[in-house]
Amino acid sequence: MINAGLTELAALLAQKKISSAELTRTYLDRIAALNPALNAFITVDAELSLAEAEAADARIATGDAGALTGIPIAHKDIFCADGWRTTCGSKMLENFIAPYDAHVVRQFKNAGMVSLGKTNMDEFAMGSSNETSYFGAVKNPWDRAAVPGGSSGGSAAAVAARLAPAATGTDTGGSIRQPAALTGITGLKPTYGVVSRYGMIAFASSLDQAGPMAKSAQDCALLMNVMAGFDERDSTSLERPVEDYTRDLQQPLAGLKIGLPREYFAEGLSDDVARAVEAALHEYRKLGAQTVEIALPNTQLSIPVYYVLAPAEASANLARFDGVRYGYRAPEYRDLNDMYEQTRSHGFGAEVKRRIMVGTYVLSHGYYDAYYLQAQKIRRLIAQDFTEAFTCCDVIMGPTTPGTAFGFGEKAADPIAMYLSDIYTIAVNLAGLPGMSVPCGMDAKGRPVGLQLIGNYFSEARLLGIAHRYQQATDWHARMPSDLVAK
Ligand code: GLN
Repeated sequence: MINAGLTELAALLAQKKISSAELTRTYLDRIAALNPALNAFITVDAELSLAEAEAADARIATGDAGALTGIPIAHKDIFCADGWRTTCGSKMLENFIAPYDAHVVRQFKNAGMVSLGKTNMDEFAMGSSNETSYFGAVKNPWDRAAVPGGSSGGSAAAVAARLAPAATGTDTGGSIRQPAALTGITGLKPTYGVVSRYGMIAFASSLDQAGPMAKSAQDCALLMNVMAGFDERDSTSLERPVEDYTRDLQQPLAGLKIGLPREYFAEGLSDDVARAVEAALHEYRKLGAQTVEIALPNTQLSIPVYYVLAPAEASANLARFDGVRYGYRAPEYRDLNDMYEQTRSHGFGAEVKRRIMVGTYVLSHGYYDAYYLQAQKIRRLIAQDFTEAFTCCDVIMGPTTPGTAFGFGEKAADPIAMYLSDIYTIAVNLAGLPGMSVPCGMDAKGRPVGLQLIGNYFSEARLLGIAHRYQQATDWHARMPSDLVAK
């Protein structure tokens, strides 16, 4: 059962072979047994979850069920969920109970899905390893001495360990795709603006985008059908016709043109990842696709550009955490200014403070033109590289990450080394394009490798189809850590 896809779970529920309450209980039991070792969840509230499950069962009984009614889902703790503690992985919001639902949470609730709890993440989504979480790092279910990736590492580990059938994530520079790659699951970052950011705690607003994390592309498509769509409460939400993201799942791949960016197969890529990605490309050729070499010449600039723009936006977004309205407030202070200072000094962790300082600096008088404006111009060039590339290919493929899951502490002391683990994912956010990660192999130590698929704007359905055909021909996505197999 824990390996069943969403369609199979929905069938079991519809045929009344299992109730939502039973299904929810199964996952809550797994969480109780395995989460102490993995730390994938920050907050679990069995009572709240079971109440939602009972409501779902009532809907099923009256014939009012949708495609996913009664199926549990875990939410990254960046999404506000009414009545749930919502921490964003921070001490600043350690005790914050959200008074409303994020759009994404509400969409899943309306669909009758059951919230299993809130998943661990890097503090304010800043990180690539989950080591910046105030609640401690998440362990990779495949190798507990290794990181699960970040910042959506809790969601990724929860799905990989089958503590949840699916989860939500957010991706500002790779935070859905990179942890998906490192834990052997499937994740999609949609085109910027396709999923509403309302109620999703803001990190870098021009880059942040929510997306699904699940066992397969097919499951991600079903989740997209629920989470995507216009929402007037997010000014960057796009008003577009409603789409069925499952529509291209069965589309054949004959004649598909896959672009391989030479910069993604160059220095810095580990042999294990290169081998697994090559094998995946071989599989795609067998399925009828052709590969062409393309160039994304500004790739090298994406990390420096991102680390100007993302901190700049973060410094503005995080100004609201000042101890006045909600969140942490320092227990002792002399006056108002000291209250701000003590609160922010003690309420934020080191990585968040580093970003706020960098962001404030690049936005300051005299430096704005030299850094922020310059970065915006290069951002445009990076986006143009992709536009150019899509004139000669339908989809771009390459590794999601340069290496597989690394050890705790291996990169934590060196921010640049950590930042480089997003070298292949960040440009996609800068351009606002959709991107996916699909499991495509294992390294010599049995840790998963991710294949990245990048599509043109609004090509999510096609991307999901391209991933699905591969998953029908291979079984990497169906594997799970053998010591976690149960029942
Ligand atoms: N790892 C990147 C960062 O630290 C991206 C994080 C994200 O996508 N939220 O900013």
